[in-house]
Amino acid sequence: MLDFLKKLLGLGRNTKFVRNYLSDTNLRTAIYNAFIVIAMETWMIIRFIVQTAIPKKLTFAQSFPSVKNYIILLVTGIVMFIFALVYHFGSKKRRTLGTLLIIAFAVICVYFGMITSLSDLTSGRELTCYITMMMFTATLLIWKPYISLFILICSFYIFGYLGNLAVAEATVGKYESLVSAGVDSSVIITALGKKADIIYQESVNALADKRAYFFRWLSEPCMQKGDIINLLFFYITLAMLSTSIYMQRLTEAKKDEGLEQTYKELHKKSITNAVTGIYNMTHFSEEAQKLLTAEGTDPQKKAFLFINIVNFSNYNEKYGFEKGNELLKTCAGLVRGCFYDDLYAKSSDDHFVVLTDEDKAESRLEALKTKVESIEKTVKLGIKAGGYIPKDATIDPRGALDNARYACNSIRKRKALYFQLYDERMEEELKRKKYIINNLEEAIANGYIKPYYQPVVWAKDYRLCGVEALARWIDPNLGFLSPAAFIPVLEEYKEIHKLDSAIMKAVCRDIREHLDKGFPVVPVSINFSRLDFELTDIVGEFEGYVREYNVPKEYLHIEITESALTEQAGILRDNINIVKEHGYPVWLDDFGSAYSSLNSLKEYSFDVMKIDMAFLRNFDTNPKAKPIIENVIRLAKDVNMETLTEGVETEAQAVFLKEAGCGRLQGFYFGKPMPVEELDESIRSGKYTVSIKEDSK
Ligand code: C2E
Ligand code: MG
Ligand code: MG
Repeated sequence: MLDFLKKLLGLGRNTKFVRNYLSDTNLRTAIYNAFIVIAMETWMIIRFIVQTAIPKKLTFAQSFPSVKNYIILLVTGIVMFIFALVYHFGSKKRRTLGTLLIIAFAVICVYFGMITSLSDLTSGRELTCYITMMMFTATLLIWKPYISLFILICSFYIFGYLGNLAVAEATVGKYESLVSAGVDSSVIITALGKKADIIYQESVNALADKRAYFFRWLSEPCMQKGDIINLLFFYITLAMLSTSIYMQRLTEAKKDEGLEQTYKELHKKSITNAVTGIYNMTHFSEEAQKLLTAEGTDPQKKAFLFINIVNFSNYNEKYGFEKGNELLKTCAGLVRGCFYDDLYAKSSDDHFVVLTDEDKAESRLEALKTKVESIEKTVKLGIKAGGYIPKDATIDPRGALDNARYACNSIRKRKALYFQLYDERMEEELKRKKYIINNLEEAIANGYIKPYYQPVVWAKDYRLCGVEALARWIDPNLGFLSPAAFIPVLEEYKEIHKLDSAIMKAVCRDIREHLDKGFPVVPVSINFSRLDFELTDIVGEFEGYVREYNVPKEYLHIEITESALTEQAGILRDNINIVKEHGYPVWLDDFGSAYSSLNSLKEYSFDVMKIDMAFLRNFDTNPKAKPIIENVIRLAKDVNMETLTEGVETEAQAVFLKEAGCGRLQGFYFGKPMPVEELDESIRSGKYTVSIKEDSK
């Protein structure tokens, strides 16, 4: 009950948002109130001028006392109106001043309403002016109910008091003038009522001691009791109205507050990273853009930093996902601490980004490095960072961060370095990479990318037993590109499957053309990237081309490079088996070039081992070269693999390999990779004799 009363009276404390909402609503309402006051008072003044001042030819000084109140109210109204308008449509500043102004406005309105209505009361007119003013102040302006009630009770009492005095004065005046005029008592009764004498006496008493009457007027009213009751009901109605309007506004304010709260939370979520609680990339990009274009910022004195937590994945593996997240949170805290007055955010994985002053970048990174290193010693945590200094403010922050990331990646394998700025050399390199990525599809579509074929011969008789398809990109802008220029880029950007698919298609098409024309055809080795299996259904695509061009399967081999075997052995083994199940022999390319263990030979079933050309390096000068090659060939045979040695450049190498028992040979000694037309010509001219089967001689 008490709580309900408290609530009804608005005695609870409101939040700042609700307080502001209510006072803003008040200021908005004040616009309408002030406007009505201005209109009313202007009309009153004009009416006075037209009806009184002009006919009576009154000067301003003579007129002023009569219109003084209207003018004061008009000026107050104008001040209130202008302030409320500026507040509402302007910057919403000086709220307290606004509230004070409203209080002053309300007091003046009530005061003048009272004065005007008191004279109306004695001359028997309606109290419209006062009623209007009370409506304004008590109900439309939103006070808390207990304040409204206080205002209403005070004004009821004061107005009642003044009203009774005014009525008393009028009664005494009227009574005495009638008595002194010697009129009949019946006339007095007609004018003042049956109890004229009593009414007169009470009025005299009231006026005799006005101060004392202040405390008595309710029990000894000079006004008609009915009028007082009417007045009281008017006040009760106003009190109810003002309370209900307050409650309604309060509900609205709370609803808005809830909405604002939700919006703020959603907004915060949308700009922060869930794991670390610091800003995310969306927010970083927006703010970085603003910062760079802000007045007084010299973009060339700023640096974008891309920070990578070294060995984070090891930490994750060792301690688990939860601890990994905690580590990210700790690192975010350290970034915040070291770059406290900069813009920073969490990027993907274990990466953080920062926009700082160029001259502070290195020292702050150094501090961060020391702190990260001291988090955990056994896993050897650390940082690697790349920096990019923008040339101008037009740079897209994401592009700038790409460059910083590029610089960071460039020192990935350099233990001693932890920070690298993006330089011109990198810019050139990145430009070239982007060119390759952006032009790949067009190059495929326009036939700029095609297979060159390098001969593979039988070691026994040097007859042509096959060719290897090696991709070449003959670009209208960059000229002739060898695989070293684009294959690593395509692998890095995970686009290699597009190239491999195009080469497969071209190979199938070439074989079909040869078969159709009745030209000699030899089996073609096609290089697969390990990524092909991850990025697309490469076997499905391959099968599609084989079917489309109706190529007999014995004309196709797949090569998988040894370096692919180091990662995700299981998945790769399954994929190799799938290729074999489809009927294609799988060759192990570049054997001995990577760090994979010999043990991995057990895990896979390859048909041919392509011995890497590195074994032939220093063939003439290094006495160990020959025994190593001999043993590798023997090893291959022992595990049922045929052999092919790559990179044969001299006759001596070829003779040695033949004697060592190597089955096939490939290298510049027998021919470089060449366009299909050149290969055809070489076969036609007798440079190569085709022999698909080894023992066909
Ligand atoms: P790879 O498959 O081991 O191809 C043999 C590479 O050795 C070719 O280089 C070839 O030109 C080169 N070569 C052959 N004989 C000799 C020689 O006697 N001496 C020297 N110094 N080099 C010789 P290329 O064409 O530059 O290809 C490099 C690598 O790029 C290939 O090595 C292969 O791994 C990859 N590659 C080429 N084409 C494709 C393709 O279409 N798809 C995929 N995924 N990779 C390809
Ligand atoms: Mg190869
Ligand atoms: Mg090779």
